[in-house]
Amino acid sequence: MGEHVRVAVIGAGFGGLGAAVRLRREGITDFTVLERADSVGGTWRDNSYPGCACDVPSHLYSFSFAPNPDWPRTFSGQPHIRAYLERVADTFGLRPHIRLRHEVQSMRWDAERLHWAIETSGGALTADVVVSATGPLSEPKLPEVPGLAGFPGKVFHSARWDHDYDLRGKRVAVVGTGASAIQIVPAIAPDVQRLTLFQRTPPWVMPRTDRAITAAERWLHRQLPFTRAARRGLLWGIRELQVSAFTRHPNRLGLIESLAKANIARSIKDPELAAKLTPSYRIGCKRILLSSDYYPALARPHVDLVASGLEEVRGSVLVAADGTEAEADAIVFGTGFHVTDMPIADRVVGAEGRTLADHWKDGMQALRGATAAGFPNWMTIIGPNTGLGNSSMILMIESQLNYMADYLRQLDVLGGRVALAARPSAVGRWNRQVQARMERTVWNTGGCTSWYLDAQGRNTTVWPGTTGEFRRLTQTVDMAEYEVLRARGGTREDTPARAAAAAAGEAAA
Ligand SMILES: Cc1cc2nc3c(=O)[nH]c(=O)nc-3n(C[C@H](O)[C@H](O)[C@H](O)COP(=O)(O)OP(=O)(O)OC[C@H]3O[C@@H](n4cnc5c(N)ncnc54)[C@H](O)[C@@H]3O)c2cc1C
Repeated sequence: MGEHVRVAVIGAGFGGLGAAVRLRREGITDFTVLERADSVGGTWRDNSYPGCACDVPSHLYSFSFAPNPDWPRTFSGQPHIRAYLERVADTFGLRPHIRLRHEVQSMRWDAERLHWAIETSGGALTADVVVSATGPLSEPKLPEVPGLAGFPGKVFHSARWDHDYDLRGKRVAVVGTGASAIQIVPAIAPDVQRLTLFQRTPPWVMPRTDRAITAAERWLHRQLPFTRAARRGLLWGIRELQVSAFTRHPNRLGLIESLAKANIARSIKDPELAAKLTPSYRIGCKRILLSSDYYPALARPHVDLVASGLEEVRGSVLVAADGTEAEADAIVFGTGFHVTDMPIADRVVGAEGRTLADHWKDGMQALRGATAAGFPNWMTIIGPNTGLGNSSMILMIESQLNYMADYLRQLDVLGGRVALAARPSAVGRWNRQVQARMERTVWNTGGCTSWYLDAQGRNTTVWPGTTGEFRRLTQTVDMAEYEVLRARGGTREDTPARAAAAAAGEAAA
């Protein structure tokens, strides 16, 4: 028989490393973390583009159980966040559990043995439970542009930056105006000969109050940890108070919209350019971006904004949908990621022999953002509808780790070879509630299309509530939402109390 572990965690970003820490804290050491790359860090390993930094303050964008009194800036840069995650792996003794260069190629549920059979680029193994932390933004998305293959210059995606290619003195085109692009543009503008930015839709951009954290602050945070906790609490509380404007009262965002317009007016004196940069949808509908140097960079004489998407490439000439042409030596795609069509879903085969991608073909949905019907003992970190428009994803990850820990506790309590299968009725009920709340949100009513929405226009990515509410809803596993599967002949087993509770739930749904 091949190697077997109790828990296989996939991915070594914030989600996977956080899961590993939590497993150890729960006294579970029989687990492995499978990571396809050759180092840990996830997002913060892959995104090394110039200017890359978090857009949630560092004291909130970090684990509560691994505070860092030494963040250098209020919004620290990628090298510091990556180094932080490397330190987490060392400090919590995770290295012996991590297998780098182990890309998960498939995982198949074995309904007889009640385990997952996992194939990786480094060999096969089986696991009782899979915790999939492959990341919502880890598969770069490149648009299919006619003629791109014939472009004679350099082409790369923001998440696969080619540091060997020197942009100095080059004519560079940046495609896209999302969170990455607005960090890249001001960072490279001083060096390039000409910069052309292709913008399909303008983002709303608010100033970013980034500054160095002083030595005195750092000293205070080291010596008096409650000051660090208070800072984190304040950053969290402010963002919690903003949530109802996004989820229930989008009209209240009008004031923020005025501030964002003032931000444009401050840096952009050319009325034509200002008009091109002013969105026509409600602020918050797409992620609100933070930058204090994006607009000033666009005002530079050698930077051109093309207010139209890239339509075609003819040799070294880039042609926009509105016919504008620009010649370039290099194209940087800041075009985002496969979010609502995660490639990992093609690699998971559940109890009925269907892939998760097939199961989710009409839209992703998971019970409490974690488990899917037909995929026993499989859960995802940052699953469907766990994304945030305005706060730190680490808060959501830590909530999901609570859920994971309780899930494993419940399996222990049940004893023997056992699995939990999310009841379709429970998943359906959860999803209907989430989608009903979504109807009033700015993401659905704000008049934009965004990467929050899937191909059918459904919002399967964002959580329509506060992080505090999500924390409460994921504190423990509600066993009425699960069916218990036992290995004896692959039979299913329900306790009378649980079956009654489930029936009541189904009737209510
Ligand atoms: C540029 C950028 C800036 C961001 N800034 C913020 C911010 O300021 N605040 C915020 O809250 N969020 C931010 N995010 C979102 C960010 O993705 C999350 O906060 C968080 O880092 C996600 O962690 P994760 O572990 O779930 O995913 P990731 O960090 O993406 O890690 C997933 C890991 O899984 C691995 N993997 C994937 N598939 C496989 C496979 N088949 N086999 C093995 N390994 C696999 C990947 O290699 C990767 O290491 C940002 C995202 C990007 C791209």
